[in-house]
Amino acid sequence: MRENALNSIHDTSGKLNLIGLSPEMLAEFFVGLGEKPYRARQIMGWAYQRGVVNFNEMTNLSLRLRQRLELVASLSLPKIIRREISRDGTCKWLLDVGAGQAVETVYIPEPNRATLCISSQAGCALDCSFCATGRRGFNRNLSAAEILGQVVLVNQTLGPDSAVTNVVFMGMGEPLANYREVVSVVKLLIDDLAFGLSRRRVTISTAGLVPQIRKLSGDCNVALAVSLHAPTDLVRDKLVPINRRHRIQELLDACWQYAECLASRQVTFEYVMLAGVNDTPRDAEILAKLLRGRPAKVNLIPFNSFPGTEYQCSSPEQIDQFCTNLRSAGIVATIRRTRGDDIAAACGQLAGQVKDRMRVRLGDKQIRAAS
Ligand code: SAH
Repeated sequence: MRENALNSIHDTSGKLNLIGLSPEMLAEFFVGLGEKPYRARQIMGWAYQRGVVNFNEMTNLSLRLRQRLELVASLSLPKIIRREISRDGTCKWLLDVGAGQAVETVYIPEPNRATLCISSQAGCALDCSFCATGRRGFNRNLSAAEILGQVVLVNQTLGPDSAVTNVVFMGMGEPLANYREVVSVVKLLIDDLAFGLSRRRVTISTAGLVPQIRKLSGDCNVALAVSLHAPTDLVRDKLVPINRRHRIQELLDACWQYAECLASRQVTFEYVMLAGVNDTPRDAEILAKLLRGRPAKVNLIPFNSFPGTEYQCSSPEQIDQFCTNLRSAGIVATIRRTRGDDIAAACGQLAGQVKDRMRVRLGDKQIRAAS
């Protein structure tokens, strides 16, 4: 917690990192320097709309102020360790977030939009059995600066013609388990003075943290995607262990409540297609019953394999049939096109570099017990 608070505020040189600060905090910072609060807006314009993070290039600030900022503040972005480009144009960056931890961010260009899939945690504690990130364990929450920094960095690297138009929290981590930082980031993504994206173009994807879903509509109602993945508690308990705490019906109730506040009024349900696990006509039938007449659409995700997994993807015919069955039952359903799988950038393949703190601690104890 403490580590995270420090990360969000200071960069490695001890200067205040202005990336990810709320407009109010930024205005307060300038007032503290004896400046007018509107300086906050100017800085946000430079960093978030133009990708300029060097104070010296900010020509509407006086030389004196630029020099002062140079001394006490920074606009620090995560460092790039590696960038890989898929044959389909998808780009993946491995980003250093300090202490040997690295997270991944994925840029997916399409004819009319460019989606950035961002990470909110180094690792993930939810341990979904079919997800590479979950298999690696959990290290820590990312700060707002580290999360928003991914968007600034990609826009800056790719230039205005390729600017990010949509942001999805579908990279590493469970965004609603890092609630405060994620909400700060979302507010800047939809703020006209910052990124100015519409609420429909920002999607939070969650494995189903019910209390946080209930809270979210009061804080920011952007698009919501929920990783349902199974139509019964019996199967979902095995795939998405958080289901043991919040059952499907409780989760769906929270979703319908959230949908009432949504501009698009629809929640997306993600459903990974796992051969022999959740892909039968009977599964489609039960799923359709859960969602019929509700503000819901289903996005079927072909399972993306990773080393060591016990699962296999359903066949293309099985996926098509499942989709057809849902549609004939009156459910809006689509199949997600796999992108970037040749560079392990597809859904669920992001492993980054994560030292699992829980396992490390367990290891320490074992060593102590043995000595
Ligand atoms: N923690 C968030 C974001 C996870 S990643 C969540 O659970 O929603 C985004 C989506 O990819 C989720 O629906 C997740 O369940 C899915 N996913 C994870 N591993 C996958 C895999 N190996 N193949 C396909 N989809 C996967």
